[in-house]
Amino acid sequence: MDPLRDALHRLFGFPGFRPGQEDAVRAAVEGRDVLVVMPTGAGKSLCYQLPALVRDDLAVVVSPLVSLMQDQVDALRARLGPDAPVALVNSQQDAAENRLVMARAAAGRLRLLYVAPERFASPGFLEALSEVPIGLFVVDEAHCVSQWGHDFRPDYFRLGDAARWLGARAIVASTATATPEVARDIEARLGLRDVVRVTTGFDRPNLSFGVVPCGTSVDKRRRIAAVLAEPEARPAIVYAGTRRQTDELAQELERELGVEVLAYHAGLGRAQRAEAQRRFMDGAVDVVVATNAFGMGVDKADVRTVLHATVPSSVEAYYQEAGRAGRDGAPARALLFAEPRDKGLHVFFIERAEVADELLESVARRLIAAAVAPVDGSGPARYDVLATDLDDEDERVRAVVGHLARAGVVQPAPAPLDRVRGRLVGAWDGRARAAARTSAAEGQRARWRQYRAVWAFAEGSDCRRVTILRHFGDPAAPVPAPGVPCCDVCAPELAPAPAGRPAAAGGRAAAGDLDGAILAVVASARPSIGRSRVADVLRGSRAKVVVRNAWDGLPEHGAFAHLPTRTVLARVDELVADGTLVLSSGPYPVLSHGQARLAA
Ligand code: ADP
Ligand code: MG
Repeated sequence: MDPLRDALHRLFGFPGFRPGQEDAVRAAVEGRDVLVVMPTGAGKSLCYQLPALVRDDLAVVVSPLVSLMQDQVDALRARLGPDAPVALVNSQQDAAENRLVMARAAAGRLRLLYVAPERFASPGFLEALSEVPIGLFVVDEAHCVSQWGHDFRPDYFRLGDAARWLGARAIVASTATATPEVARDIEARLGLRDVVRVTTGFDRPNLSFGVVPCGTSVDKRRRIAAVLAEPEARPAIVYAGTRRQTDELAQELERELGVEVLAYHAGLGRAQRAEAQRRFMDGAVDVVVATNAFGMGVDKADVRTVLHATVPSSVEAYYQEAGRAGRDGAPARALLFAEPRDKGLHVFFIERAEVADELLESVARRLIAAAVAPVDGSGPARYDVLATDLDDEDERVRAVVGHLARAGVVQPAPAPLDRVRGRLVGAWDGRARAAARTSAAEGQRARWRQYRAVWAFAEGSDCRRVTILRHFGDPAAPVPAPGVPCCDVCAPELAPAPAGRPAAAGGRAAAGDLDGAILAVVASARPSIGRSRVADVLRGSRAKVVVRNAWDGLPEHGAFAHLPTRTVLARVDELVADGTLVLSSGPYPVLSHGQARLAA
């Protein structure tokens, strides 16, 4: 019998390889660089675990999440026994245990060593491995090295250097979310040579994809409740955009459906989250409303519907979340409820993430000022500062430090979330400034590209499945699965209409929802309308300017005659403040939707 198939049966108990696995395994056993791109659940781990176990050197596996590493090590021990040559080092584990693991590795008694990426910033760690023969250097969730990816991690930067420093025979990179551009970026960042690319198709034939345009939030919530009211739609995951929306929607659905509905987000305590996840996995509760914090590690096979109550920031994020439906292979649905208002929020977040040149300058200067030389006078100066001393946005601080690292100015080290640590490794000069600016501009362009792609998906009129496959560079023609409608474009009955209530025409607001009405007036009024005139229209004014511009013919005219002007104006101002609407400058400012600037 073929030795690799034999090892597959003996070590894992699997009857055969899944598509793509055998090619990846053979290449890694031979010591070739490999890039594995397969959708979630396809079996990427086996592509490096099996080669690592049959080779006679050590595989170092870099994985971004401590909980994922622990799961993998536990699963391998469950299969191979407690003495399996498999271990992990990370900051969650106590120092004595980490030392023990490193001693086992140094003695050649490990085949798989899982490590968190920030370990590589520690010289002691690299030293400890310097005498150990390293075969494979594995980068799991490799899209994290790419700034084009949606999950960019500055501490993934130097992994290519680390692999070379350790003298690894080959690098194996794996990811579920690589567009062709991200795949090229991964290969370049990790310095893959003569790479074997293993890609299985991205299609999930048992999933139906529906996009449901919603005029207003009220409309949207009704439709979501209508879907979940059918018992065969459950178990179901509803993804919401914010913690508040998660809590509110969970409560509302609980009232509407008369069943328990869980809320899950990062604002809950660790124990509460674990409990919610356990009850959903066990089937005790079959609807959970969650932010994107509910994800990695959720491997429930029989989820029948994944609903998105907000449009995610990228197609990659969308497909990863939607892909949690139907892992058992039975028909399942992914429904995206698209409200035009989400566009404004996306624009707002993208603009907030913008890194101004001044911010690069001030963060670089502060890190340089804060850095001190090590006591023994050897090596580069180190900094250790509070993130809030650098900028008021955590996320943006991390991005800025990432740009400075790309420019070769700093080298980040592991730190708690509220601190920024690392060393100075290069001068902050003209060349570094230019490199940091380029890196920041690239990041922003990538976000806009993701924005355009996800809205092209949500608002497009082509087959959703084909749109997704092309996004991931998969040229295959989808093969229809029996009994599974493809998508709302190919099978319009897929998109649910709420019972007893007609769909809002053309995405336009229905009366009853003030935000939706304001947005609809701004979108449809010609010429463009100003702030106080929006209030006039909604309150049913017949002022000359309203009549002359035929604004009194808009369907929303008079829909809010019962509200005082100041209430309507206050709401308009809030929409401007949160970036959903934009007020032009000049003597007669007019309103437009946040995304209007993008189109310009
Ligand atoms: P990915 O990392 O691609 O999301 P995993 O590596 O976590 O997926 O694998 C998903 C599941 O598939 C795991 O439960 C794993 O044990 C199982 N699996 C992997 N390869 C095979 C195989 N050849 N035969 C049967 N089950 C497999
Ligand atoms: Mg995986």
